[in-house]
Amino acid sequence: MNLILMGLPGAGKGTQAEKIIEKYHIPHISTGDMFRAAIKDGTELGLKAKSYMDQGNLVPDEVTIGIVRERLGKDDCKNGFLLDGFPRTVAQASALQTILEDLDRKLHYVLNIDVDPSVLVARLTGRRICKECGSTYHLIYNAPVKEGVCDKCGGELYQRSDDNEETVTNRLNVNIEQSKPLLDFYGERGYVKTINGEQDINKVFDDVNAIIGGLSQ
Ligand SMILES: [Zn+2]
Repeated sequence: MNLILMGLPGAGKGTQAEKIIEKYHIPHISTGDMFRAAIKDGTELGLKAKSYMDQGNLVPDEVTIGIVRERLGKDDCKNGFLLDGFPRTVAQASALQTILEDLDRKLHYVLNIDVDPSVLVARLTGRRICKECGSTYHLIYNAPVKEGVCDKCGGELYQRSDDNEETVTNRLNVNIEQSKPLLDFYGERGYVKTINGEQDINKVFDDVNAIIGGLSQ
């Protein structure tokens, strides 16, 4: 099964990726991991990518696409793969189509874990940290017994500036704008399967299984 996983920050993509790779034994391929592996192996493309990264520059598409091509051609991808974080642009998506054709493979689905942005804001702004002992809480998932007070030491809880509503909303909006053309590209080609990510984690995974469970490879 050849899959792409998409979803906004906080949608639960990481959790679903873990469950998919555990059940179906396909590699989870994220851009960061791919770069690290290519650099570690000292491949020509890996070294190229490293030279850009060392200078604080973005790795150009041709290098990224080359690394993806090398990665997808490896033996552990024979039964499939779960791409995460690639492609990010329509140009990368069409390059991926070419790579898959060259490898005589086809993309099966783009799994889009869908959560309303307002729910994501609540999820992403809910973290609270104790000023005294550093314990972390979450207003939805792991709330302190008494609001604003650490259960363990009675210290005051605060919110990191990264977690405030404005920062989180901006980050979400950037992600929404980036992913829209990609979802359109794959949607027009019939690849997109939208999964309701507002459900319980296991129910989300049931829905994922209902889509991919029938794929032989
Ligand atoms: Zn504390």
